[in-house]
Amino acid sequence: MTEVTLDVKDLGIGFRQDGALSQAVKGISFDVKRGETVALVGESGSGKSVTALSTVSLLGDSAEVTGSVTYNGQQMVGADDALLRKTRGNDISFIFQEPMTSLNPLHTLEKQLAESLLLHQGLTGAEARSKIIELLVKVGIHEPENRLQSYPHQLSGGQRQRVMIAMALANGPDLLIADEPTTALDVTIQAQILELLAELKASEGMSMLFITHDLGIVRKIADRVCVMKDGEIVEHGATAEIFRNPQHAYTQMLLNAES
Ligand code: ADP
Ligand code: MG
Repeated sequence: MTEVTLDVKDLGIGFRQDGALSQAVKGISFDVKRGETVALVGESGSGKSVTALSTVSLLGDSAEVTGSVTYNGQQMVGADDALLRKTRGNDISFIFQEPMTSLNPLHTLEKQLAESLLLHQGLTGAEARSKIIELLVKVGIHEPENRLQSYPHQLSGGQRQRVMIAMALANGPDLLIADEPTTALDVTIQAQILELLAELKASEGMSMLFITHDLGIVRKIADRVCVMKDGEIVEHGATAEIFRNPQHAYTQMLLNAES
């Protein structure tokens, strides 16, 4: 039996500017099944990030969202704040492209991670500290005890992204949405972070929505692929199938550009 975690049906996202509505996403449908990694690929501006943000209503007031996004059967489009907050805190976690914008430059690692933990779990200080060390070990930070008092600027880009992943894992999410998580990193570090995400997906049993413009990454991490262009999904299928036999001219073009 396959269980659907995230089910997007006929999702439309428009932005109202000076009275006019520009349609960023034009009625797309896809799902993410339990334990599966689905990649959304497409060039910049195709609507990947707004699709991701719409899953937990993070688009802001100028957005007009139509259609349906259900998470474990619960409707997220137009959901009340309490449900959205609970889902963001406990069930769906995000990792973004640039960790510097998501980490507080004035907080030590211990403090950043403690906030992620304490917000949602009733832990004492000592319990939180050992959970933080456990999380840092899990994401491959060496000698984490010596890193607790470090500030974000004292870490490398790859280490900062590992810390972001630790924060995303803090509450044992069910679905991880990674929006270009390796784009800002050097190629060798990219490979390490991808390997870490693949390991975590297996060990934590998470489902994952992985957003990228890089098809090489998709090949390594995704079970299925949705190819986006101009706010539409122009092709979707099993990763191996898409790579072996791309149907849409745009997918063929992406594949040719990659090789
Ligand atoms: P991608 O992640 O695929 O690069 P985005 O999802 O960020 O693309 O953007 C899709 C389209 O929506 C773009 O044309 C972008 O300019 C527009 N857009 C995104 N966010 C907003 C916003 N807050 N207000 C107005 N337009 C937006
Ligand atoms: Mg984006």
